[in-house]
Amino acid sequence: MRCAQFRTALSARLDGEPTGLPDRRLDKHLARCEACRGWQEQAERLRGRTAGVDPDGPSAAWSTNLLASLGGRGSGAGGPGVTGGPGQGDDGSGPER
Ligand SMILES: [Zn+2]
Repeated sequence: MRCAQFRTALSARLDGEPTGLPDRRLDKHLARCEACRGWQEQAERLRGRTAGVDPDGPSAAWSTNLLASLGGRGSGAGGPGVTGGPGQGDDGSGPER
């Protein structure tokens, strides 16, 4: 058997899925194969890392960020051109008198 097949089985075992191989066989290969031992350690570490992260966390932060960037621009001062200012109302009303 190849290492790749053992690693597939190992990752399945980490996920609690059926490996299709007896545990004894997996462990025997692990005992012999340093590369696969390292691989499993890494896989376990990765699993530990992702397990601690809430899957809803990143997307919530992302949307909050998006709202913040949108709100920073949209709200606040009305911008130029809202108040009429001088010059309006002078048109056409002067000459009549
Ligand atoms: Zn191996």
